[in-house]
Amino acid sequence: MANKTLLFLLVATLIGILKSEITQATSFEKMERAYYAKDSITKGGYTLLFISKDSAFSAVTKQKMIDAFFTVYPKQAKRFNSKTLKKVTFIIDPDYVGVAATGNGVARYSPKWMREHPEDIDVVTHEVMHVVQAYPGGSPGWLTEGIADYVRYVYGVNNIKAQWALPEYKAGQSYTNSYRITARFLVWLEKNVRKSIVNEMDDAARTRTYSADLWKQKTGKTLDELWLSYTQNPALELAYH
Ligand SMILES: [Zn+2]
Repeated sequence: MANKTLLFLLVATLIGILKSEITQATSFEKMERAYYAKDSITKGGYTLLFISKDSAFSAVTKQKMIDAFFTVYPKQAKRFNSKTLKKVTFIIDPDYVGVAATGNGVARYSPKWMREHPEDIDVVTHEVMHVVQAYPGGSPGWLTEGIADYVRYVYGVNNIKAQWALPEYKAGQSYTNSYRITARFLVWLEKNVRKSIVNEMDDAARTRTYSADLWKQKTGKTLDELWLSYTQNPALELAYH
């Protein structure tokens, strides 16, 4: 009698396990079907999972984005954060409103943006820098975006064709304007004040050691004083790739 009960329990448990596995497999298949195409590419120790949810997405643009990833990501990793993720996911997502966004190793791109701006391949260069940055918080957002555009300027593969450039300094700008305005300031700082400044700020942001005072520690001037110097002599010779 005891053996029979045991047998019954065993069979019931097995059926339970089997059922849950079938359910899992079914929901996974559904998820897979939602993607039009999914490719995994590995090169030089890095893997890119490229998921397209847009059946009409250009194969040429896709290949350019993949090539850009394998060109710029290892360079960014080497210079800024050798412990960065080895695996990055790109999702071409028609539901994404905006140009692109990145979090937890996943970068989402708007197919509409890429269709209308097919040369804007260095959106990839900017987005994957956010993977490398992996800032845990406690540093300003303008610095995060400024560094990502600084990196796009330095490592970009198609900025000339995309007609992407750092805007000339104009009165009324501030380093808190973020993106390209901050990026140009960083390039200027690197050339005129301290060569290692971007690396130092990036590292501080990642290790939670960033503070406004760090600028003064590294350069002898406060951030506002540095900006003032920049506005007084903002000329820069820039070279795009
Ligand atoms: Zn960004």
